[in-house]
Amino acid sequence: MEFLKKEVVIIGGGAAGMNAALNLGTRDCMVIETPGSNSVFSPWNLMLKEKDIQKQEMLAAGNNMNDQDLVDTLLNGIEEAVQNLEKMKVKLRPSNLGVIPDYPNPGKAVRDIYMQRLEEKGHQILGGRVVEFFMNDGRIVGVGAETTSGKRIEVLCNFLIIASGGLTGLFEYHTGSPQVDGSVLALGLRSGLLLRDLEFTMFHPFLIVDKRFPRCLVSGDILTKMNYQDEDGNEFLSRKITKALRENRHHYVFPQMTREFYAQSLKGKIFGHIDASDKWFDEFKNQNEFGRIFKRFTKDEAGKIQLHPAAHFSIGGLAIDNRARTNHSNVYAAGEASAGLHGSNRIGGLAVLEALIFGKIAAQSINGSGNARAPLCRGCDSVKLRSPSAELKSLVWENLGPVKNKEGLEKIMNFLDNKEKISASEELIKVIAKTCLLRRESIGAFCREDLPVKKNSKSSYIEKSKITFR
Ligand SMILES: Cc1cc2nc3c(=O)[nH]c(=O)nc-3n(C[C@H](O)[C@H](O)[C@H](O)COP(=O)(O)OP(=O)(O)OC[C@H]3O[C@@H](n4cnc5c(N)ncnc54)[C@H](O)[C@@H]3O)c2cc1C
Repeated sequence: MEFLKKEVVIIGGGAAGMNAALNLGTRDCMVIETPGSNSVFSPWNLMLKEKDIQKQEMLAAGNNMNDQDLVDTLLNGIEEAVQNLEKMKVKLRPSNLGVIPDYPNPGKAVRDIYMQRLEEKGHQILGGRVVEFFMNDGRIVGVGAETTSGKRIEVLCNFLIIASGGLTGLFEYHTGSPQVDGSVLALGLRSGLLLRDLEFTMFHPFLIVDKRFPRCLVSGDILTKMNYQDEDGNEFLSRKITKALRENRHHYVFPQMTREFYAQSLKGKIFGHIDASDKWFDEFKNQNEFGRIFKRFTKDEAGKIQLHPAAHFSIGGLAIDNRARTNHSNVYAAGEASAGLHGSNRIGGLAVLEALIFGKIAAQSINGSGNARAPLCRGCDSVKLRSPSAELKSLVWENLGPVKNKEGLEKIMNFLDNKEKISASEELIKVIAKTCLLRRESIGAFCREDLPVKKNSKSSYIEKSKITFR
């Protein structure tokens, strides 16, 4: 067992963690990350729009439940965030939303550029999983981790930045890394960190689960060229959604489309049958960012592709202010681990920017924090983690998926109530289910088939398992 003291520990090495590390004044920092981040899976499509229009769109999507300070901070930071990428020599090209890194695998390419910079800066990046928080007098004063080489380390720190991503890996089906499983949010819940809006998860209908291809999200033009069928070849989508998909207008009916795919997935398999000319398919393979998935296949060989809806983005997480501060004075959060920016739903193309901008702000807050330090000390209490079982993840998918109802939520509560001892991750799932039971309306990305759809509501907050709406 190794024991260390560091000024700053950052959990997570995605866009938020990397940008936080790069902008820290001190070199006395350790980044601990379980390899595999959603930032590597992501194409990094970055939305650029006129500020006022972007704000209106964010507030409309989020049903005005967004924290407006966070919205303004994000919008004021976009130009600089893109300039900083350019200064780091990240090649960008125009995209349908704004700009996108110009590489075959953008997330991986940008990460390589960051890693080189961080190495030059002398930052230590440790492969490992944080499984424990050390507490002293109600404050988090360090973390315990299992390294990828099987060692156990304990690191005491003055400041902690939580950049561990969202909680989509808690679901049996998700479009990102299984490591992004809300484990640090679970530790945070038990340590008294304030969490919010955890019942809001964004789902996506098009995860490829066909073993011939990589298990990844597919989007863009190919969706307009498929007939969606069950295993007997019957089409199952409503006419409205079929038409929207054909006309590439499905973004406007995304929630209904996701619900129709989810309903089918609970009954049986889903296949996307390619309905396009050979010429179109060949061009798509060579020119489209998703074309490389099908590179080794002719159109007829690809034929019908098995798809499944999946959890895509966590809207909820740790409550932060516009300096990335949590309710603990030495703990900061950024990126998908944090919450408040998107209200009840998010529009595409802002998640990576959120991670970059608030990652940098977390670092700047620490740089300017003077002597507001937590005492470095041992002999403290600890909060430990155990991953949820495959059985629980499948229950989470079936009962906390795109469409929920009272019966399913009670089922998951009963399952957890019947356990003799409940782990931190299980407690996180339980408070999410409980919040879903307490919410009185379907809104934004939250859908309960037994509740009416409303256009305004309050955010949910969880502190030490106490749930409030405000
Ligand atoms: C397929 C896909 C496509 C996307 N496309 C876009 C897009 O085009 N544009 C856009 O803006 N957004 C997109 N997103 C969303 C965006 O990529 C993410 O929201 C963003 O990258 C999150 O960055 P992050 O740094 O907050 O977290 P992540 O990149 O998820 O990094 C979190 C890190 O923390 C680590 N971690 C978790 N728990 C622990 C632990 N206990 N101990 C140690 N480490 C831990 C994880 O392993 C991971 O390395 C996409 C997401 C996916 C999955």
